[in-house]
Amino acid sequence: MTAAANPAKMGFQTEAKKILHLMIHSLYSNKEIFLRELISNASDACDKLRFEALRNPELLEGGADPAIHIAFDADAGTVTISDNGIGMTREEAIEHLGTIAKSGTAQFLEAMSGDQKRDSQLIGQFGVGFYSSFIVADQVVVESRKAGAPADQAVRWQSEGEAEFAVETITRQERGTTITLHLKESEKEFANQWRLQSVIKKYSDHIAVPVSLLKEKPGKDGEETVAEWEVVNDATALWVKPKSDISEEDYKNFYQHVSHDFREPLAWSHNRVEGKLDYTSLLYLPSEPMFDLYQRESPRGIKLYVQRTFIMDDAEQFLPLYLRFVKGIVDSNDLPLNVSRELLQDSAAVSSIRSALTKRVLDMLEDMSKNRAEDFAQFWQHFGAVLKEGIAEDFSNKERIAKLLRFTSTHSAKEEEKISLQDYVNRAPEKQKIYFLIADGYKAAVNSPYLEIFRKKGIEVLLLTDRIDEWLMSYLTEFDGHRFQNIAKGELNLDGDESSADKTEADKQKTSPLTEKIKAILGDKVDDVRLTTRLTESPACLVIAEHEMGAQMRQILQAAGQALPATKPVLEVNAEHPLMAVFDSEDQSRLEDLAGVIYSQALISAGEQLEDPAEFVRQLNRLLLQVGV
Ligand code: ADP
Ligand code: MG
Repeated sequence: MTAAANPAKMGFQTEAKKILHLMIHSLYSNKEIFLRELISNASDACDKLRFEALRNPELLEGGADPAIHIAFDADAGTVTISDNGIGMTREEAIEHLGTIAKSGTAQFLEAMSGDQKRDSQLIGQFGVGFYSSFIVADQVVVESRKAGAPADQAVRWQSEGEAEFAVETITRQERGTTITLHLKESEKEFANQWRLQSVIKKYSDHIAVPVSLLKEKPGKDGEETVAEWEVVNDATALWVKPKSDISEEDYKNFYQHVSHDFREPLAWSHNRVEGKLDYTSLLYLPSEPMFDLYQRESPRGIKLYVQRTFIMDDAEQFLPLYLRFVKGIVDSNDLPLNVSRELLQDSAAVSSIRSALTKRVLDMLEDMSKNRAEDFAQFWQHFGAVLKEGIAEDFSNKERIAKLLRFTSTHSAKEEEKISLQDYVNRAPEKQKIYFLIADGYKAAVNSPYLEIFRKKGIEVLLLTDRIDEWLMSYLTEFDGHRFQNIAKGELNLDGDESSADKTEADKQKTSPLTEKIKAILGDKVDDVRLTTRLTESPACLVIAEHEMGAQMRQILQAAGQALPATKPVLEVNAEHPLMAVFDSEDQSRLEDLAGVIYSQALISAGEQLEDPAEFVRQLNRLLLQVGV
């Protein structure tokens, strides 16, 4: 025997240890899901074996029919889950059961607060998995032999769910995995045939692999009881069944199996397509995001089956990136069984399926937006920012996506009250532009000086506060015949915009001795100083040219390390503002301070950083002292 072979104690990876701890303490009220997770893993293992065996049929030696067996011992307080799937080598057991390889795990753990209730909701975003066995067990023993490996190269992995696990090499006759749970004293109720049967039916009825339970049955003629295996689940792939035979509960449980999410889905769409292409799809919209929605490298896409055989997880070719939150399966009868990721990339069938699935998802969203407003609002809250990417990414569906966009507006009573572009144009005068403002947050937006004239005239403005909104709007030029207009850009001509008629002399006239004076002081800080058509209350604001980048976009690009050419804004001043009267003064240094302060205020309102905050403070204080604070 080699030194490496027998029993070696090892520590869980730090992240794994934390997840394990959270799992045990947070999911207590949901403890029966451990069985669903273990059956789900067993079923995945059977799927993987079937797929490997397409290329390597010897792997099926000893029995080709996938099976999951569940037994219990009420006296010993154990439950045993066995499968004849792909199995694990010693190295795989160490890696898959002792570490967590998902990207973003560390950030996820940082978000944990220690507040049990909140954390138990968050852990659902992570995907529950194998560690849920420790909710009910104080010792878990996994014995496994990888398909194709010799009998004496099997592994036993065991742990009490604390800091450590032990692995040793063992001999095992059968391929596959057996997991024995030594139930905690308080959880012994699970070692019971009725309890197990009801949990299996509840969560795992739809698993395509037969799940057999060892049942005690009365013997013939009232003799002693005998133990017999009985298949207790439905054991057909859910998507193969006619829709009329599938209950809402079935759909929900299947979602939890494919998504590793233990919350309920928000909506689903199940479709069989026959004709030129022949496939079935079952797509789900989650109710809340998984923790890694914004992780670039995190897996995405759906599960691919070919003629009922599992081919791969995370087949990202079947949906565009902006629909990465969608979960589900596609089962194709056209693709070859030996299809690889590379082949998927240039398959014409795959690209037709992809555009059809994209349409299905948009159908589902349209339907929800029309008939289930509250659910759609929930969807938008969690996934709206991702869907927005579609405006730039998916030219052919841009119009449909634009109809799904939701924004807060100046006519909303609160931030959560959102409207569609259709709502906006429905209540806007016929040729009016769609006005929008980009700001860092809702508060900054509603109080923005740029809105003053719009408020006065009662013109609605969309308030855009997502990080990517300026970028998004650069892809939208028109909606339903109405052009878009950023209200902080270009020259504002509300009068040319049919909606208002009260043109005044001041509106037309752009310069005056006042603007000349201020311009002389500010020098090259600004491109120009002109009289405003925007403001009614504030003294001044900055305006950039129509084609120039706003503060938000510049900040994103600068954060990404791009050097940007300096831009010079125009300062618009409100001649009606009492401060402007001060410019009649002859005291040059006072005027310099005042112009500087007005310019800095305008920068702040535009969401920009001050170049020299200390100088601003000095100028402001000098002015304050003059008024005699
Ligand atoms: P997930 O199923 O999301 O990958 P789990 O925590 O449920 O996460 O399982 C972790 C990993 O352990 C699986 O990805 C798989 O590689 C391995 N595993 C768990 N159970 C089995 C099993 N019955 N047979 C083979 N491998 C398994
Ligand atoms: Mg799992």
